[in-house]
Amino acid sequence: MVAWKVVTVEARQLFRLDNEVLAFRFTATMSDRAGEAPQERLSSHGRLKLWLHAAGLAVPDVSPAELQDAIGLREAIYRAGLAVATTQRPDPGDAAILNRAAAAGQSRPALDENGLAVWNLSKQAPVPDALGVLAADAIHVLGGPDRDRIKACEGPGCAGLFLDTSRGGNRRWCSMNTCGNRVKKARLANK
Ligand SMILES: [Zn+2]
Repeated sequence: MVAWKVVTVEARQLFRLDNEVLAFRFTATMSDRAGEAPQERLSSHGRLKLWLHAAGLAVPDVSPAELQDAIGLREAIYRAGLAVATTQRPDPGDAAILNRAAAAGQSRPALDENGLAVWNLSKQAPVPDALGVLAADAIHVLGGPDRDRIKACEGPGCAGLFLDTSRGGNRRWCSMNTCGNRVKKARLANK
């Protein structure tokens, strides 16, 4: 339990973990996408392992090829999400990447002893299983009934994807704590 908390604190320092949609939280591992210097936060296989752990998809190890697969999937999710956010259809190539990753995953959801939902990954291919969970989550949100609520953040340089669940459908930022605050502060400074 203690080890898990330590990982989470470290993960919180390295990643933006506040997006409610798992697949979009994954796309946020590349931040400042529309800025001058986009930041790659999955800069090593150790970082991916840490992020997966924080997402409830703990794997024993990540190979360099698996890191490349993960980044390829993440970028396909982002491009497909941006297409949906701008009322376009995802590129068929990106849809194929998502579909392949979802089909390759062999993970199974389960309730643990505390009644919480967990993902059971296989021993043979835990990373593809974890990527399958992320791809399936992306497919559900991008192609589901809430797809009209998908937006790209208007925060300066952000362009991060989020699901606008506000009643009025007028949310503009991926997170009030980061981008929303930045915009507010900039407004105050200009007054
Ligand atoms: Zn943002």
